Amino acid sequence: MAGLKRLAILGSTGSIGQSTLSIVEQYPERFAVATLAAGRNVKTALEQALRWRPEVVSVTTEELAAELKAGLTAAGAGGTEVVWGAAGTVECATRGTADFVVSAIVGVAGLEATHAAILAGKPVGLANKECMVAAGEILTRAARERGVPILPIDSEHNAVHQCMRAGERGEVRYVWLTASGGPFRRLPLAEFAGITPEQALKHPTWVMGQRITIDSATMLNKGLEVIEACRLFDVGPERVRVTIHPQSTVHSLVEYVDGSILAQISVTDMRLPILYALAYPERPDSTLRFDLAALAHLDFEQPDMERFPCLRLAYEAAARGGAHCIALNAADEVAVEAFLERRISFPGIADTIERVLEQTSERHPQTIAEVLAADAEARELARELVGRAAGRVVDGQQAQKAHSTN
Ligand code: MG
Repeated sequence: MAGLKRLAILGSTGSIGQSTLSIVEQYPERFAVATLAAGRNVKTALEQALRWRPEVVSVTTEELAAELKAGLTAAGAGGTEVVWGAAGTVECATRGTADFVVSAIVGVAGLEATHAAILAGKPVGLANKECMVAAGEILTRAARERGVPILPIDSEHNAVHQCMRAGERGEVRYVWLTASGGPFRRLPLAEFAGITPEQALKHPTWVMGQRITIDSATMLNKGLEVIEACRLFDVGPERVRVTIHPQSTVHSLVEYVDGSILAQISVTDMRLPILYALAYPERPDSTLRFDLAALAHLDFEQPDMERFPCLRLAYEAAARGGAHCIALNAADEVAVEAFLERRISFPGIADTIERVLEQTSERHPQTIAEVLAADAEARELARELVGRAAGRVVDGQQAQKAHSTN
């Protein structure tokens, strides 16, 4: 067994961060904590810092840092260094004592630190798909140049990574990503306009954050994963296929040129892909068992692009790369927020993304700053479009009201 791996955990108070810490707890002979980048949750950050005694902890703002520092001092742990903001996250990601970086900050907020970790030569376990979608071209180039491994923690890509170990890259015909299909796989198309946030937030198999749950219902999430797969495994979008697999038991598959298809099956528990990424290339013994006898059947079906226009838009963005992938992700985040606030309809999410993509010029940002600028530009455009669409919804409601009182 390799020596102790000391982890920098970016996004330590989120669900992936907490699962990572539970793995560290379970395998003290393999893993330890070097640094923790938390967010705004000072209470959890304090508990984690006292439990794990990292060298440095980062939080979002200077005020939160002062609060955390006071808590640490009161608990007799005043020696722990506390930093903040984007620079603080980068500090956590690049500390000399960290051997491995878990990148689990949601959104483009984790981008700069993930890039910095790669530049510092740290292997990365990547749970943040927005990083690969927005800046995959830059991150994978930097990783290749420095020989730094990027190990996917997203369950589908983790499965593909495992299946890829069975053959050479040139022998791969298709990467098959499985999708649950979300809650609206069978809903009549005519009813899509009436879908409420409550209905869309009910995911059949995984319990996740709000945006990713809505993204699963539109299948935009799978679209982001198609782009992520292209970048991680260096294949074109024509070689990445999506299949709807409602049981979410097969986490993904790789089809080889000789006709063999390899699948990865396991429990739907993120601790498994996290453990795999942290321990790679070793496979530690674990208690995560899948009961094959309970497996009644496996269904696979073609996704319907009319039902899931977001998936079509993602393939189009994947083919163009660069700014289009950035805009896809940014526009979706704004549109999903507007949908959750009942300002646009469910089909309005795809409409917003499509409009933003139409108005995005083809270009390939070369630096993280250029990526963030393109991201901000797409968000601004999406907000404008959402504002106009929301205005129309309000007008429509008032017109209807006026009509009914007549
Ligand atoms: Mg996934």
